[in-house]
Amino acid sequence: MRKKIVAGNWKMNKNIHESKELVLQLLNIYNSSKAEVIIAPPYLSLLSSIKILKNSSIEVAAQNMHYAESGAFTGEISGSMLKSIGVDTVILGHSERRAHFNETDEILAKKVDLALSKELRIIFCFGEELSDRKAGLENSVVKSQIKNVLFHLPATAWDQIVLAYEPVWAIGTGETASPDQAQDMHAFVRSLISLSYTKDLANKISILYGGSVKSSNAIEIFSKPDVDGGLIGGASLDADHFGMIINAI
Ligand code: PEP
Repeated sequence: MRKKIVAGNWKMNKNIHESKELVLQLLNIYNSSKAEVIIAPPYLSLLSSIKILKNSSIEVAAQNMHYAESGAFTGEISGSMLKSIGVDTVILGHSERRAHFNETDEILAKKVDLALSKELRIIFCFGEELSDRKAGLENSVVKSQIKNVLFHLPATAWDQIVLAYEPVWAIGTGETASPDQAQDMHAFVRSLISLSYTKDLANKISILYGGSVKSSNAIEIFSKPDVDGGLIGGASLDADHFGMIINAI
């Protein structure tokens, strides 16, 4: 059976004090879940979150990392630095990174390779813009994003990959892809992996949906057979709300 995952992407929210408070609240309300639960606070709060959560099953992920091992990249964070504080998972390819920081498929492929060399698990985000969907191009856009960044990997590397379909038009907009739209894309992505690798591998990969998931729509979205959980932005900033989404799975 595929792993179910609910991951919270805090983006650039919560200072160190607010982060501690939210992590403690989560720890209080969270007992156990059939799903794996991950939070991705800002870099500054990674270490304190890891310390607070050390005896819990909630995992801590980074929102990004640089593609180089080390060097003259002022303001950046490397994969080794993440590993050195106990981070085992990193989000790569978020649409906000692509849009505001010019992260291309080429850069993302380098980040993927470096992350894997550091034994970091990757939550790889992809998704079409509204104009792509209006033009009926969503499948071809998603296909090229996945092919350009991930299809050079050997099958064995896919043990470390989680996919997150995040249609750009649904992120932070309050507009959610319908459960059927999410299901169709997830099934399409699984068919791509099956064609390039094997059906068995495709059936093992967890594919999360992200884009305005809330406690009110989570059950319906998570009930689709190819949706293996969610990447949650805004709604992960409130412990009760995030807790309800975790329970939805
Ligand atoms: C995200 O940023 O990954 C995301 C899904 O955001 P939101 O849930 O706020 O749409």
